[in-house]
Amino acid sequence: MNCLVVATRNRGKIKELEVLLGGLVTKIMSSADLEGFPDTIEDGDTFKDNALKKAREASAFSGLSALADDSGLIVDALDGLPGVLSARFAGVGGGDAANNDLLLMKMKGVPLESRRAAFLCVLAFVSPQGVERTFVGRVGGQILESPRGTEGFGYDPLFLVDGSGCSMAELDLEQKNVISHRGQAFRQFLEFYKEYGQIKS
Ligand code: IMP
Repeated sequence: MNCLVVATRNRGKIKELEVLLGGLVTKIMSSADLEGFPDTIEDGDTFKDNALKKAREASAFSGLSALADDSGLIVDALDGLPGVLSARFAGVGGGDAANNDLLLMKMKGVPLESRRAAFLCVLAFVSPQGVERTFVGRVGGQILESPRGTEGFGYDPLFLVDGSGCSMAELDLEQKNVISHRGQAFRQFLEFYKEYGQIKS
């Protein structure tokens, strides 16, 4: 059976993938379905390190091919922060609102031309046979001085998307997927997996 484990407990991500991977995969499992599978400790210095670590652990534990993503916001004026700390910028359990407040505080007084930022996503695929691939998606923009929009999650309301005139939180999910870092990385993976599936069968 053509089965893929996705190293996330986020059911929303699994649902998105089920749609994306449609006929290519017979069964998609969440790592939450792997009894006794411990959460990967995301202690890497880069998104790539963390994504690969999650995918390797899920593949080794399950004996199946695994997919994992790691993503976040990189702000030039903050030397790349919050980066791999994006989810816990204001501390573990702080949440989106606290992270956004801290970001606004750190960016206070920073002039418009120095507010460059990007969302980055690294998606890692690891097979039990030792095939490893990573796919990178990136979207550029700038940090707003106050939140705009109600869609999305995380830093979306503070991120003005290059060339769109909209914050990420002013786009609906369909529009966001077309341009987003995650959408880009998943589309690259899809291209790879279409071919990989054919090679295997
Ligand atoms: P994850 O690794 O995809 O779970 O994302 C880690 C953190 O990065 C999230 O908790 C958000 O703070 C931030 N992040 C990642 N992707 C996005 C996005 O598309 N919009 C806003 N924030 C994001």
